[in-house]
Amino acid sequence: PAASARVPRRTLPGRLADAPHGTFLDRRIDALSGDDRGIVARGEYFYEPVIEEASGSRIKFDGRWFLNFASYSYLGLIGHPYIDDQALRAVEQHGTGAHGVRLLAGTLHLHRELELALARFLGAEDAIVFSSGYMANVATVGALVGPGDTVIGDVYNHASILDGYRLSGAKVVTYAHNDLADLERALRKAGDGGRLVVTDAVFSMDGDVADLPGILELCERYDAPLMVDEAHSLGVLGDTGRGITEHFGIDPDRVHVKMGTLSKTVPSAGGYVAGSRDLIFALKNNARGWMFSAAATPAQVAAAKAAVEVMAAAPSLTRELRARTTRYRDQLHALGFDTLASETPVVPLICSSADQAVEMARLCQLDGLFVQPIVYPAVPRTLPRLRTIVNLSHTDADLDAAVVTLEKAGRACGLIR
Ligand code: PMP
Repeated sequence: PAASARVPRRTLPGRLADAPHGTFLDRRIDALSGDDRGIVARGEYFYEPVIEEASGSRIKFDGRWFLNFASYSYLGLIGHPYIDDQALRAVEQHGTGAHGVRLLAGTLHLHRELELALARFLGAEDAIVFSSGYMANVATVGALVGPGDTVIGDVYNHASILDGYRLSGAKVVTYAHNDLADLERALRKAGDGGRLVVTDAVFSMDGDVADLPGILELCERYDAPLMVDEAHSLGVLGDTGRGITEHFGIDPDRVHVKMGTLSKTVPSAGGYVAGSRDLIFALKNNARGWMFSAAATPAQVAAAKAAVEVMAAAPSLTRELRARTTRYRDQLHALGFDTLASETPVVPLICSSADQAVEMARLCQLDGLFVQPIVYPAVPRTLPRLRTIVNLSHTDADLDAAVVTLEKAGRACGLIR
């Protein structure tokens, strides 16, 4: 696309107070969104582009097509004909809604088939499917620990895990990112009650991998079960996409609580926990986000089950993704970009300031590449970045085109020389 094309701009949504006045709600809204409104007014608000059309690696918003480097569909399975077909069949058979919560009238044979397919794929006895990944974390952490217990987690753990801490009422001890010495300090500091250690497998802002062998060794030494969030590692890590235990050659049974989402590699929506039959039964009777929220819809569940079948039948997809990602990351390194310790398709380009990250995103979008700037508070103030994400819908030509755009933008704003 021509460089003269207009920069996508957002407009202010609805009525917002110009100055603090009126009711508590007016003042509250102003306090909550004042800074963001300033960003919108300057035409620098990059969030929530409204996608009009999508096709393979391309999306259209603001009337323009972009190469999409911000998608979590790691294996490029969105639009896969078998998965689409299974979702359509489920709608034909069961309609569009579930009949309520799973415990009462919401469980279809499709839910149980998906749970058993996930369990089989992950080497677990059983699984429980939630209506979102967020809910899976909040409800599971909230159920497994309580007041008097200690939950111990990496400081970079996902927000949904942090919200689970709060719901649980347990004492929370965090440890420095992927730092085993600090994890050991946290384990020592935990009180006499139960302990649960929780970590992301792949950290979604850095694209690095948790040190599972070291974490497990400490968990076992200190008698603390481990919960791992595989939102960004299912289909991504391991020789056949089974995630972090496969990546390190570790028996999956050693991770007691295997959580993941159905919204990234699996092109649907929902979350799951896989583990022992006893764990799953206990969650079904104690995880509030499962007990008190409607079941995932037939189409969602059928699509997810079909995606698990595709992953099981085509293990080479994960290897192909890794090969393409490595080539892409190597090209960025050769240009002088800093990608932190990324080992996965999440490839951050560290910038020297938040303004530079926003400018990088703006220049890339002008050039037809859709990428998002990520700044504080989503990441530390000292590490603003442009986050790029590789997926299997990208052809080699797409990856090369992205590198060319990133190089041009990086030189224009002084990120690389
Ligand atoms: N865990 C991690 C690590 C995530 O990145 C996300 C979503 N970005 C979630 C959990 C929540 O999953 P979902 O979006 O499917 O609700």
